[in-house]
Amino acid sequence: MRWLRRGARRSDAWQGCRTSTPSHAIVARSWSALALGVFLALLVAARSLTAAAQADLAAERARMVATIEAHAKQASIALGRDSIAPEILKVVGDVPRHEFVPDRVRGDAYADRPLPIGYGQTVSQPFIVALMTDLLRVRPGDVVLEVGTGSGYQAAVLAHLARQVYTIEIVPALADSAAARLQRLGYGNVATRSGDGYYGWEEAEPFDGIIVTAAASQIPPPLIRQLKPGGRMVIPLGAPFALQHLVLVERNADDGRVTTKQLLPVSFVPLTSGSRQR
Ligand code: SAH
Repeated sequence: MRWLRRGARRSDAWQGCRTSTPSHAIVARSWSALALGVFLALLVAARSLTAAAQADLAAERARMVATIEAHAKQASIALGRDSIAPEILKVVGDVPRHEFVPDRVRGDAYADRPLPIGYGQTVSQPFIVALMTDLLRVRPGDVVLEVGTGSGYQAAVLAHLARQVYTIEIVPALADSAAARLQRLGYGNVATRSGDGYYGWEEAEPFDGIIVTAAASQIPPPLIRQLKPGGRMVIPLGAPFALQHLVLVERNADDGRVTTKQLLPVSFVPLTSGSRQR
């Protein structure tokens, strides 16, 4: 009604300005004012629905972070400490994981498990993403390489912590969709490429950190070569579909020597192609 009255007043004002306004034009203006009112009311309703949905997602993320913290305590013996760094918990509490999974599993985006992302691949369980990120000890100026882009979720998490992230994916369709998704979500410091990550990314080396999100039977030598002295690599090692372990690889800052530490048992899809021939 308010809109109708306003419309009527406005058409009165127009009449005052114009010498002759036909009555059907006045009615038409009143209707368009009403339509505008309805449109604005719908817009406000849609906005508050969106705000409510965003609040729900934030609550789901907060529950996911609580679960990650609980897992870190359970895994403390293997890890040698019982918590994930607060800045990493903050990042996983902020990154919209639901944007990285297909529509059909979106309702489970914040569940404590891996989710299918197509082409027989999965995005890791949130705890594993947080743990691998924590193990890398990324500092703000760091340049990090990820092998196995998948959905782009792990790359997005890293992008909040590092200066620059390079990520390689062997399945071209996954590489393309992750690249488009990361761009749409504004991750300007992630460079993507479709190819075999066994060989690393020569043009961008050396890396402060390397994270491999598919299981290899051994540490790919090109990745060791591309790791900076003082750098860290986190990689699942083990035969495909057999018992695998998450392994922390450190390259000594002084003599460049490599040490490895086997952490906890994990289950990852295999690193394919280059790694198979060796
Ligand atoms: N990090 C991803 C999940 C990775 S699943 C995410 O956050 O969603 C492992 C991914 O590694 C798969 O997408 C698989 O296609 C990819 N992959 C397997 N072997 C690879 C290789 N040699 N080079 C690059 N990517 C590889």
